[in-house]
This record gives sequence, structure tokens and C-alpha cells, in this order.
Amino acid sequence: MPETTVAFLGLGQMGLPMALNLQRKGFSVTGWNRTPEKGQPLVEAGGRLAGTPREAVRGADFIVTMLGDPAAVRQVALGTDGFLAACRSGAVWIDASTIGPSAAREMAEAAARARVEYLDAPVLGSVKPATDGTLTFLVGGNPEALTRARPVLDAMGQSVHHFGAAGQGAAAKIVANMLTGTLVAALGEALALADGLGLERDAIVRMLMEGPAGAPIVRMKAPLMQSGDFPPAFQLRWMEKDLGLALLEAHRLGTALPAAAAAHGAYAAARAAGLGDQDFAAIAAFTRSVARGPAGPERA
Ligand code: NAP
Repeated sequence: MPETTVAFLGLGQMGLPMALNLQRKGFSVTGWNRTPEKGQPLVEAGGRLAGTPREAVRGADFIVTMLGDPAAVRQVALGTDGFLAACRSGAVWIDASTIGPSAAREMAEAAARARVEYLDAPVLGSVKPATDGTLTFLVGGNPEALTRARPVLDAMGQSVHHFGAAGQGAAAKIVANMLTGTLVAALGEALALADGLGLERDAIVRMLMEGPAGAPIVRMKAPLMQSGDFPPAFQLRWMEKDLGLALLEAHRLGTALPAAAAAHGAYAAARAAGLGDQDFAAIAAFTRSVARGPAGPERA
């Protein structure tokens, strides 16, 4: 049987381990990344690298994109050397980037004009699940295309949830990240308040992790906040983007999201203060520095 060919566009923190899993599990992968050096491990694993998105997708059965934001997906799909014009008719485009439902529906329409099946398939899980092949895919789009794409998704993840028509997987993802982002911003504020009250940090972090507010994300991020070291798994600038996407949809629907809006403002300010490339748990360091203020207590 001929090998199933996959073009993988966007070999960043998430995309590279996902593409490596596909290559290791028997797919023939051609990758592309704006910064080509990041794709070298794919070549070492037996995959290929293309010079442009258009070149990468030639003849591919599936196209996977794992790009930063809606502008990046638009650019790579429809811009100069955009891949949609070069896809073979009937190919399936799995868009794992988090871009929100409006942009996902826009991409589904562009794909349909190019006779390509579009599935929005953003993921739950960070770099470790991407490496271990245990991501969760939140999918919107044609069920028949999803059935065809299933072996590709199964090589990168452990579960797939189909939420309905194009855009609905992207919608589910921003609901999830709106809650996660708001929760983690609130956790940073809780720790800043604890600091101000003179509470011992280790004891407070333990209490929060063991108590009713100790959601899995709190248990994951509280120790990072305690250490003050924020190596990026999920960059803060992407959380700012995701809360922005949630607010965009809320505005379209006429719905108020006051807590998410406040959290979005905090992430935007933290990014402007230079923390955009750090893990989004760095929101706690920003909140602490603001809470301390010029005349505040001297607790590092
Ligand atoms: P990342 O490491 O920053 O990778 C972003 C990718 O997008 C890189 O390949 C980057 O290329 C490319 N890119 C950005 N702007 C571009 C443009 N204008 N044109 C072409 N390529 C462009 O981020 P990531 O963590 O892998 O995240 C990728 C997506 O997954 C985001 O939508 C994020 O929200 C989502 N996500 C991330 C996580 C996580 O834990 N990291 C979890 C779930 C979902 P360069 O390498 O050249 O910069």
C-alpha cells in the first residue's frame, strides 16, 4: 500500500513533536517552518523539509497546520506561496492552531473553494502531551473527513471530540482557554495577596493545591509561580491571544465576559513588560511586581 503523505506546516514548540510522532508512526512527513532550522530534527527522523508551504503540500493526502495565530494561518494558507492553491483536490486540512471559530469558518470557506476538506482541530495539552502523543483534539467539520483523518489524529493524540460543524472545535478550545487563562491570572493574584498578608508561600501553595480550588491547572502552575522560573510550555503571548479571541466572539454575540476581559488586560500588560515569551504562569511575577508597587513591601 502507498504511504500516506502528510504536509506539516509550523514546526514550533507543539508542531515539531507532533510531526515527529507522525513520522515515527509510519506517515511520510514533509515539514515546513518559517524559521527552517527548527525543522532539522524532522529530517534526522527521516522526514523531509520543503522551502515553501506550497512545495510542502504537493501531492499530500493530509495537511496539518500548527501555527501561532489567525494571521499566521491566513498568511501560510492564502499569502505569497500559500499552500491552498497547491493542494490536491480532496486532501484534508487539519488545522490544530488555536484561531477561534470566526477565523476557522473563514478558513473552511477558503478550503472549500480549493476543494480541500477543512477540520478545525485545536488541542488540549501542552508540549509534554505533544511529545508523548497524548493530545486531545477538539474537532469541527465534516464527519466523513474526520473519519478519514482519524489515523493521523490518533498518531498525535489519545482522544478526539467532535463538536459539530466547521468552527465548533475552535469554539470549544477558546471556551477551555478562557477559563484556564482567567483561572491562572486569578491564581497569580491570590499569591500576591498572600504575600501582602505576610503568609508563608510554601504553606499557601500547598494549601491551594490540596484544597477545593486545586484544579489540575492550579496544581500544574502553582509550583512554577513559587519557583519564579517560567520556561515556556505555553507562551504568555498565546494566552493573551486566546483570551482576545474569546472576547472577540463575546463581542460578536453581545455577551459580557468581565473576568476574562480583566485577565486579558493583565496578560497584555505582562507581554508589554517583556514576559510574552515566558510560560503564561509568568503572569504571577507581573502581578506580584504590580502589587508590590514602588512603596510596597519588599518581598521578592
Ligand atoms: P510556537 O512555538 O511559538 O510556534 C508557533 C509557530 O507558528 C512557529 O512554527 C512559527 O514559526 C509559526 N508562525 C508564527 N507566525 C507566523 C507567520 N506569520 N508566518 C508563518 N509562520 C508563523 O507556539 P506553539 O506553542 O507551538 O503554539 C502553536 C499553536 O498551538 C498556537 O495557536 C497555540 O495557541 C496553540 N497551542 C499551544 C499549546 C502549548 O502548550 N504550547 C497548547 C495548546 C495549543 P517560527 O518558528 O518561524 O516563529
